[in-house]
Amino acid sequence: VGLMASEKEAALAAAPSDSPTIFDKIINKQIPANIVYEDEQVLAFRDIAPQAPTHILIIPKLRDGLIGISTAEERHCEILGRLLYTAKLVAKQEGLKDGFRIVINDGPNGCQSVYHLHIHLLGGRQMNWPPG
Ligand code: 5GP
Repeated sequence: VGLMASEKEAALAAAPSDSPTIFDKIINKQIPANIVYEDEQVLAFRDIAPQAPTHILIIPKLRDGLIGISTAEERHCEILGRLLYTAKLVAKQEGLKDGFRIVINDGPNGCQSVYHLHIHLLGGRQMNWPPG
């Protein structure tokens, strides 16, 4: 059983919920994270279980109902754009000049395990298609 299997198990065990998540503790600096970018609205930090040489999570500091992309409302359009733009800034900061991948997992079928919207930025190796 490899990491991917346990990630999938974690995702399937996590029911969609608006309860506080581990990311709140990272935002509040109650638990450490390797933060690579921060501004008033957005936080980006290295994934604890990297799936590529660069694997960074980009999140809104204020979840505001965004437990995943499937709960987005029109009012979230600005923060959604800012998250994507931050992914681009961080990709440049990480030196991913040959390309990278952005992923948003949603719900059990999408293997989402943390119910606070996050963009995965993956790079530093050749990606495959289709994803698993
Ligand atoms: P999801 O599976 O929901 O799309 O992604 C959640 C991600 O959060 C996973 O890639 C997982 O490794 C990462 N993660 C979970 N807990 C922590 C943590 O405490 N710290 C960090 N840095 N990443 C975490």
